[in-house]
Parts: sequence; C-alpha cells; structure tokens
Amino acid sequence: MRYFDAHTHTNFVAYKDDTEATMLRARDAGVGMNIVGTQFDTSKAAVELADRFDNAWATIGLHPIHTGRSYHDEKELGEGGKAFTSRGEVFDASVYESLGASEKVIAIGECGLDYFRRESDTKALQEEAFVAQIHLANRLNKPLMLHVRASQGTYDAYEDVLSILAREAQVGGDVHFFAGSWDVAKKFIERGFTVSFTGVITFTHDYDEVVRNAPLDMILSETDAPYVTPAPHRGKRNEPFYVPEVVKAIARIKGGDETEVRDVLLKNAERVFGIRLSGQDEPPIA
Ligand SMILES: [Zn+2]
Repeated sequence: MRYFDAHTHTNFVAYKDDTEATMLRARDAGVGMNIVGTQFDTSKAAVELADRFDNAWATIGLHPIHTGRSYHDEKELGEGGKAFTSRGEVFDASVYESLGASEKVIAIGECGLDYFRRESDTKALQEEAFVAQIHLANRLNKPLMLHVRASQGTYDAYEDVLSILAREAQVGGDVHFFAGSWDVAKKFIERGFTVSFTGVITFTHDYDEVVRNAPLDMILSETDAPYVTPAPHRGKRNEPFYVPEVVKAIARIKGGDETEVRDVLLKNAERVFGIRLSGQDEPPIA
C-alpha cells in the first residue's frame, strides 16, 4: 500500500449500492483505510467490512453527537436509521469490548466532544461516553480516534478534550479533521497525538498554518468520506480512492516532495495504528 485513509466511513449507507466496488477501487490504487464507527451498528459494520478486505481496518466507538437525542444523518444511517438514534446511545463498554477482540480493530472512536451541534443537555452525556471510551482504549491498549468540534469562533471543545486526556488517557491517537489553531495542535502533538486533515485543505487555506507548522511525522491523511470531497472531485460523493489528493495538498502546503511526503504519512499510520502497510518485498514505487 502507498496511501492510508486514516478516517473513512465506507460502512455508511452512502455506499450501500457499491460497497464492494468502492473497497476494490481503493485497493487497486494502493489505498489502505481505517473504517470508523459512530455508534454500535456502524462500528459492527466497520469490523465486518474490515474482515473482508486486506486493505481495511476498523475503529469502534460512539460519536459524541450520538449520545444526544435526535441527531440523524441520512448518509450515515439512511431513512430507516431514525430508530437507532432517536433516544441516543448509552455507551456500553462490554459490547464494544467484545467487538474489540477482532485483530482488525486498530483504534477506539470516533469519540470526543462536539459543542457545535450539541443540544443543551448533552454536555455531561458526551463527557461520560468519552471518558468510558478512553478507559476502554487504556484497557485494550489501542489509540483513540478523536472527534472534536468547538462552538463557533472558539476552541472550547479542544481545551476540554485536552484536560480530560491529561486526567484519563494512557494512550495516544489521532485528532481527526483537525480544525483548531496551531497553538491547540501543538498541545495535542505534545501529548503524542497526530493531527489529520481531509479534502478541506484542497479547497480552502484555513488550515495551511497548522499543516505548515506541524512536524510531518505527526500528520495523517484522511478523507472522512462520504463528506468533504477533495478538489478536483468536488460535487461527487467522497471515497478513500481520493485520499491521494489530500496527500498532494499536504506536500504542496509544506513545500515537500510528494513521494517523500506520501511515504512518511504511510509510516505515520503504521506507527499510530500498529499495522503493517508497506511490504519490504513490494517493488519500488515508480
Ligand atoms: Zn468521521
């Protein structure tokens, strides 16, 4: 494999008509992926999918917005998914722990705090589920896949996540879809967390400063598919096959050689998730 999509959702209903083709398109392009769950059903689907494809691994956990009452996304759960989320899910460590027995499970999440969309009564629920998932990650000795979204114009959720990690976490991980400042990124990097970037960096300059300043060995590439399709594919559904566009953008922003950047990002994923992506017996990359 030559690329790694550190955070993707081919387990969502957005791919229900062409899951197989989507997975194979990525594999044939040398793209490995981490399929991320957002509640129990999508976590289970992530593990099942990872079991079927040798370029795929899974992350299991409960997204902070699914601890609340009514958040629902049709790309994620489909129209029939309402029943799963209408009351919110209470994180049950034991059912996730048994899913986590699979060798294909490489991280716990996506978990964290989302103050952007939260309903007024969910802050405590979010924190409770987050802490329980940190404890699970500690027990399984697996990294955390963090979802952090601050309320508009602030870094409030990042600050809260950092203090919870300082108190509870014995493992590192990745801050997915990093959208904080360089000062905030620095604090996560000091704790041993990588920051990952999506196709957003192909069509805005909002994160250029963070990408430029973060050491290359503390960055991961991701698509967060089916969301935020990178340029030049805007308007189409996103998928792991497009992760090379994100890698290209990281190389461009950092002013580095594209092949070298790609190879470092692949090594980073191997280190963070404890997996083997590049075989020694593979032919040299053209
Ligand atoms: Zn996600």
